[in-house]
Amino acid sequence: MSECTHDCSSCSANCSSREIEKEKLNEFSEVKKVIAVVSGKGGVGKSLVTSLLAVNASRAGYRTAILDADVTGPSIPQAFHINSEKAAGNGNYLIPVTTKTGIDVMSLNLLLENETDPVVWRGPVIAGAVTQFWTDVIWRGIDVMFIDMPPGTGDVPLTVFQSLPVDGIVIVTSPQELVGNIVEKAVKMAELMNVPILGLVENYSYFECPDCKSRHSIYGESHVGALAETHGIDTVCRIPIDRKLAAASDAGTIELYEGDWLDELSAKIEEL
Ligand code: ADP
Repeated sequence: MSECTHDCSSCSANCSSREIEKEKLNEFSEVKKVIAVVSGKGGVGKSLVTSLLAVNASRAGYRTAILDADVTGPSIPQAFHINSEKAAGNGNYLIPVTTKTGIDVMSLNLLLENETDPVVWRGPVIAGAVTQFWTDVIWRGIDVMFIDMPPGTGDVPLTVFQSLPVDGIVIVTSPQELVGNIVEKAVKMAELMNVPILGLVENYSYFECPDCKSRHSIYGESHVGALAETHGIDTVCRIPIDRKLAAASDAGTIELYEGDWLDELSAKIEEL
């Protein structure tokens, strides 16, 4: 491949730093800031962190939205107990479902007739659906939107990054994932996208004994601090393994959670 001229208009290469024109919102929508929540692989708690950050922002008085871009494994509706609801349409646009505390949500599960139906779509179709969640949904007066990104560094997250105007990225990981360097790929992808990494969240970081309050690193010692230092990321949050947290996200009561693990990151998002 010839050397990059940084002029994407005259180049056909499909490289990750390719500038694609950002998709526009419809005339009824306004979204001031977009935060993408990413992870190297599934199951590390990305949706949980997306939900907690959205709840924090909403509690702080911001009009908050969640765009569930994890199309093949959507878990946001369940966490907010809106999974039996369906998003309405007005002929041209879709209306998000609003949670009990006022967070607007759009997810493929809010459109499927049966929420257990699998989404057997190829990558470009999935990426197209996510883009439509941005362009064809009425996002009314939103201060901050959190995007629950598809896990990994493949075609779909790449397209989402390139076509939506992301202001900042939060990376979620687990101690095990750090050992396997999977999260470093996500960090490097974020760097390639030229979007600031607002913080790293290590989920399942430790278990705190409810009796003696001692902390145990069930999945091994944390390396998240070293990773953050290598990549100049100044905000690192740690979430413990917490039965109550799992129960809240599974029972749809995440809006009632109590915990200050993400406060530093939420404050940084507020600064935006
Ligand atoms: P991802 O979005 O990365 O696939 P999820 O956020 O859906 O992962 O989390 C996977 C499962 O693990 C969910 O059932 C969630 O409730 C549970 N979980 C996530 N984080 C924790 C935690 N810190 N403590 C206990 N359970 C957790």
